[in-house]
Amino acid sequence: MQMPPLPRVDEERAREVAGVVRRLGLRRDSYDDPRFYPPRSTPRELQLGYFAAMVAVDHRTTTPLTRFEGVFDGERLHGADALYRLGRRLFDEDPEFFTPERLASMGVDEGRRLFEIGGVRVWDFYTRVFLLRDLGCKTLELYGSFENLFSSNRASEIVARLRVFRAYEDPVEKKAMLLLKFLDGRGLVRVVDRDRLDVPVDNHLTRIAIRLGVVRLSSEELLVKQVEVGPEVDRAIREAVKKAWRLVARYSGVDVFTLDDYLWSFGRRACLRGSSPRCGHCPFAEVCLARARGVFLDEHRFTLTWYY
Ligand code: SF4
Repeated sequence: MQMPPLPRVDEERAREVAGVVRRLGLRRDSYDDPRFYPPRSTPRELQLGYFAAMVAVDHRTTTPLTRFEGVFDGERLHGADALYRLGRRLFDEDPEFFTPERLASMGVDEGRRLFEIGGVRVWDFYTRVFLLRDLGCKTLELYGSFENLFSSNRASEIVARLRVFRAYEDPVEKKAMLLLKFLDGRGLVRVVDRDRLDVPVDNHLTRIAIRLGVVRLSSEELLVKQVEVGPEVDRAIREAVKKAWRLVARYSGVDVFTLDDYLWSFGRRACLRGSSPRCGHCPFAEVCLARARGVFLDEHRFTLTWYY
């Protein structure tokens, strides 16, 4: 039987990468882009509901066979950008949709307003409807409102509360951390136990970590062949990625959420999947293992998940 690849964090390389990150001059986002997020003037309950709901369904929209994209007010958007654009549009038309009551009883027609572009539905349409209903039902039953659900300013407490929701059950806590990133950045929750925060680990952060060499695998065969892995291997790799970026954040003095915003965007515009990332102007070029080797691996393949 083939042994699963064991991931390990390369601390020395994490220090080198942190040196580059420190010089980037990154700034914390406040998530006020009117294309994607609701105005601050709206009631806190609705803002909390918006972020809790949108993050609950913020996982991959692209699979090897499908793509989620469209043109919005003359701008072509794909993936999470398209999803949040649809969310903001729905919020403008019908803000009450983001109450626990409405989420709990949402139907297919409402799902189409969030998960369909030009008649094409996102690949796991019914899963996303289910995740929102689950969020609404349990929020109503256990807390009564989103204000009560997010009444704590401790990340540890919020993460523990979120575990009951199917959307937030990822053991690596991608969506929980993403939600905290938004809530903290918007000032909806001021997190006090900041040591509990981590990057939300997704495909981009994993691919960049592997290419830079801050995470090493005992065998790269699964990456080279792009064999679908199981949940245990996925979890082990992403836990290592989380730990590696935690070290980079600590050594660089940049907080994990600021680092995540940069890496997510960098993964979408520069360190792209495939054999031709845009290394020409990459700030990490001098410390990048993939560039030194001339081998540009993608992240492991784990397709059928709603965790990230
Ligand atoms: S040098 Fe290339 S492979 Fe390495 S991090 Fe930069 S874009 Fe990615």
